[in-house]
Amino acid sequence: MERIQIYDTTLRDGLQREGMSLSVGEQLAIAQRLAAAGVEYIEAGFPASNPKHAEFFDLLAREDLGASKATAFGMTRRRGMAAADDPAMRGLAECFAPVVALVGKTWDLHIEKVIRVDRAENLRMISESVEFLVAEGKEVVYDAEHFFDAFGEHPDYAIECLQAAHAAGAAWITPCDTNGATLPAQVTRTMDTVRTALPDAQLGIHTHNDSECGVANSLAAVDSGARLVQGTINGYGERCGNANLVSIIPALALKMGYEALTPDTLSELTSISRYVAETANVAPDHWAPYVGRNAFAHKGGMHVAGMLADPRTFEHISPELVGNGRNMVVSELSGRGTIISRARDLGIDLEGDPEKVQQILARVKELEHMGYQFEVADASFEMLIARETGAHTPLFDLESYRVITEQRADGVEMTEATIKMVHDDERIVATGEGNGPVNALDTALRNALIDRVPALAEIELINYKVRILDADRGTDATTRVLIESSDHVGTWGSVGVNENVIAASWEALIDSLEHGVRRVVMRGGASTAR
Ligand SMILES: [Zn+2]
Repeated sequence: MERIQIYDTTLRDGLQREGMSLSVGEQLAIAQRLAAAGVEYIEAGFPASNPKHAEFFDLLAREDLGASKATAFGMTRRRGMAAADDPAMRGLAECFAPVVALVGKTWDLHIEKVIRVDRAENLRMISESVEFLVAEGKEVVYDAEHFFDAFGEHPDYAIECLQAAHAAGAAWITPCDTNGATLPAQVTRTMDTVRTALPDAQLGIHTHNDSECGVANSLAAVDSGARLVQGTINGYGERCGNANLVSIIPALALKMGYEALTPDTLSELTSISRYVAETANVAPDHWAPYVGRNAFAHKGGMHVAGMLADPRTFEHISPELVGNGRNMVVSELSGRGTIISRARDLGIDLEGDPEKVQQILARVKELEHMGYQFEVADASFEMLIARETGAHTPLFDLESYRVITEQRADGVEMTEATIKMVHDDERIVATGEGNGPVNALDTALRNALIDRVPALAEIELINYKVRILDADRGTDATTRVLIESSDHVGTWGSVGVNENVIAASWEALIDSLEHGVRRVVMRGGASTAR
């Protein structure tokens, strides 16, 4: 089977999506998830476009990405100077990433109106930049910006631009449909011409979804010889988005006879899609092909009867192949194997107790139906198993908590929380102030327990996300809170769901702290007194 290389640009082009913003930690987490799935190229953006990005590159350099290649992104050299003298080119050459995606101009409209150079200088900019980076030991993926528009207007020069990059040593030549204007038949005609003009080049494809053909155009390009596909998870990207890798990968692997990722990681696709959505705090699309909650939901009576007779009657693929389920709200995490292995982490052997596993599975389904999401809430998932198996020891017994938010006339806002609890038969009343309810509750809890549970000192809340869940299940709108915490060794997530944002926050906070204390104690850190 021929392999199609998967090139992810979620962390560069994907972040151009309106309203999308990821912390450095979230970007790293996504890069790790992509690497674990076997994505060949992980594009990380400009090495030093701003301090946040420089920090991301520093941290990424220390990550073990396995066989995945971190890829830096940059433009061809500035006009009228040597590539080696251009600071941006030097930055690309000096960064740790073994691969550089180099974008260059092809279209007269841009060459004349945007960068204002003549055609010959543009060709030199392409070839000298590629040559420089190749000489510096980089694998170069050459991205020909606006290639399809350029090819429509002046095909000979457009091809010359690709030939310049190829002759200079680019490993991949990637025509880009930057404006997303192109339709599949045009992609086929264009890529066939490119193939003939550059018979020994390895070709890639980069498309956008402005004509809703991002996926179709990528697949058409593969049919015409492209062996590297650039896209983003869930199709995130500027305007209408980039080509959606989550739809492209199963099409390649299950319908077109190519190898893309591996069968093992293909079955993680649903989980990856949701993980990236939750991390980016974007509501998952329930109607997304392959991975959406409703992608294999069957409602009509005849469909259900057909499904029972043979699933192929009304399903284009078997949902398990991409880690999805039939008419279910179940994530990959709720699989039996996952429950057994997570229980083992807690020192509980469920191998010989299928009834208990079934009971936990049922509870997970019920909670997911209520709006819980365990993809990014590993701590809550673990606490759930602990509670269901009777292995859970609460940090304290709650009597009550109360939160008061004060808005002063001078504009200052202050939240105060009071917690009443029993710890080791001792009644404790503690208060805490904060800039919001979670912060105030967290402070009050620490004030109450820090002397008795020293491990709390090592736990820090690093991220807090709130989402109002759409009331599409016949219930009132509910609030979901996700909290991310760290003990400076690792991070974990927890989740709370309630109609009341403070109650949802409290739930996520307790899971986070109980899980964190267990981690720290297991590691041999500070001990609890309980
Ligand atoms: Zn793009």
